[in-house]
Amino acid sequence: MKVTFPHMGNQYVGTKVLLEELGVDIIIPPKCSKDTLNTGVKYSPESICLPLKVNIGNYIESINMGADTIAITGSCGPCRFGYYSVLQKELLKEAGYDIDVILLDPPQGDYKLFFERIFKLTGTKNPYRIIKALKKAYNVLKAVDDLEDMTYYKRPREKVKGSVDKYYDTFHKDVRMVYGYKAVSKLIQETKERILSVEEDPNRDVIKIGIVGEIYTIIEPFVSLDIEKKLGNLGVEIDKSLKVSRWLNEHLFMHPLGLSTEKETWESAEPYLKTMVGGHARETIGYAVRFAKSNFDGIIQVYPLGCMPEIVAQSILPTVEKDYNIPYLCLIVDEMTGEAGYMTRLEAFVDLLRRRKETFKGEKLLSGY
Ligand code: SF4
Repeated sequence: MKVTFPHMGNQYVGTKVLLEELGVDIIIPPKCSKDTLNTGVKYSPESICLPLKVNIGNYIESINMGADTIAITGSCGPCRFGYYSVLQKELLKEAGYDIDVILLDPPQGDYKLFFERIFKLTGTKNPYRIIKALKKAYNVLKAVDDLEDMTYYKRPREKVKGSVDKYYDTFHKDVRMVYGYKAVSKLIQETKERILSVEEDPNRDVIKIGIVGEIYTIIEPFVSLDIEKKLGNLGVEIDKSLKVSRWLNEHLFMHPLGLSTEKETWESAEPYLKTMVGGHARETIGYAVRFAKSNFDGIIQVYPLGCMPEIVAQSILPTVEKDYNIPYLCLIVDEMTGEAGYMTRLEAFVDLLRRRKETFKGEKLLSGY
């Protein structure tokens, strides 16, 4: 059995560690590219969400490299993600790829079914071995997400442009070549030291933007057209509302115990959106409020064309913008999104935030504060 899985930002590093620790043969799909998207678009319905199209491209690229089984996560809830596994299996079949799909839904209390699927995937019935591997995978995922956070801080401050990306991109190339928890952890640690050593320019006037929106678009850099790099190179430090390690912690460890780390976020969203409407719309609103309260200079929402939950959030965010006096930009992406237009909108927004900050500074000086 050769197992593959779809890309979603750093998730592949954790999945790699999980399956390698359990001795499963894996095929990591090539980094998402225009070719991946074109393949996905060819075999997917035109109106389906962009993430599904990219996933289909990932699977076909992996199948062409020898994969015969796909492991995917699913969800319930009022958005199309709940149908992804069934739909993807059908689409692959129609395209001539009759392949085994193992669905790894968050357990939501049903640990028996969850472990049965893991047993099938891993070929072991030893729950202790699986739990140990899950813990290692989570640790690695958290460490890579922390590493990425470090790039958000360093990139706008680096003295020599491109230094952070040189180390971070090398990590993503090298991590495919090493095997198992120890080797991956060592590589993360080495990369962390390299990025930390990047010299900073103390005179940079860095502004801060909070990124909110649909989870896949925020997390997978190919789909958001590398928004973190583009903004970093414009002198912007970012923070993202959603991360894979946070999602995993929430669904795998907190929810089954009736707990959540998102209580503060939901409370922040409550005056605008009281309930879950699918996807992460409530988190989009909640984090926008939290970013505004933490003195961020602006908020950017990114989501794929036709994403129902984020359309709801988009209709609310202008009210948050007004209530908290924080500029907001909405970027909607699909397979037709042009890089030049996207970049122009980012540059214009960043210019606006800088001018606004300067004006505030001037006003404060004049008023003697
Ligand atoms: S959150 Fe949006 S883009 Fe993602 S599956 Fe649901 S509807 Fe599609």
